[in-house]
Amino acid sequence: MLQDDASQRLAAVQTAILRAAKIAGRKPDAITLIAVSKTHDAATIQPLIAAGQRVFGENRVQEAQGKWPQLREATPGIELHLVGQLQSNKAEEAVALFDAIHGVDRSSLVTALAKAMDKADRRPACFLQVNIGDEPQKGGCPVADVPALLAEARAANLPVAGLMCVPPAGLEAAPYFALLAKLAGEQGLDGLSMGMSSDFETAVTLGATHVRVGTALFGDRA
Ligand SMILES: *Cc1c(COP(=O)(O)O)cnc(C)c1O
Repeated sequence: MLQDDASQRLAAVQTAILRAAKIAGRKPDAITLIAVSKTHDAATIQPLIAAGQRVFGENRVQEAQGKWPQLREATPGIELHLVGQLQSNKAEEAVALFDAIHGVDRSSLVTALAKAMDKADRRPACFLQVNIGDEPQKGGCPVADVPALLAEARAANLPVAGLMCVPPAGLEAAPYFALLAKLAGEQGLDGLSMGMSSDFETAVTLGATHVRVGTALFGDRA
């Protein structure tokens, strides 16, 4: 990716976030842009770092291990979020590498993460992923089970920052974002990880604190 392209795409997304925040009467600094760099190599990511972006997201532990240690060495202050599904047997590696984990969606993973965090004495922020459309086959905790999973996560000393969702494909996202915001409010959680390239502005107007944007920053994935 050319440096100019990277700078322009980043500026466009930042401007859209500012505009949506203004419409909603929200403070722009309450919204973190996570640049989702999955499938893209270091050479593609570098221009975005040069343009000033510091918060990135990946969806596979192994892929992230392959490129982020070097990128982080070159630029201090990078924050790395795991935005995808996490297998319990990768919990230790995830805790070692990531600053936040967005896919916490079941008891077994809560247990594995708690164990890994105790062992590493490192506690990345956790977002509980909610299957907000209650879709079969989709990752995330069923809506009705959120209070129980949250109680387990808190009892296990996971630093729960908020809730995360990916709304059903092909449907208007706004009602699902509103539902996630309501659930978070009921549970006393401030963090809302919601909104991707196609709908992050809507997510910001509905309270997103973390938007996860890939394509709008990096272009299409191969
Ligand atoms: C890939 C991915 C994104 C980014 O999607 P874009 O549509 O490319 O912005 C966001 N969240 C999750 C969980 C993802 O896997």
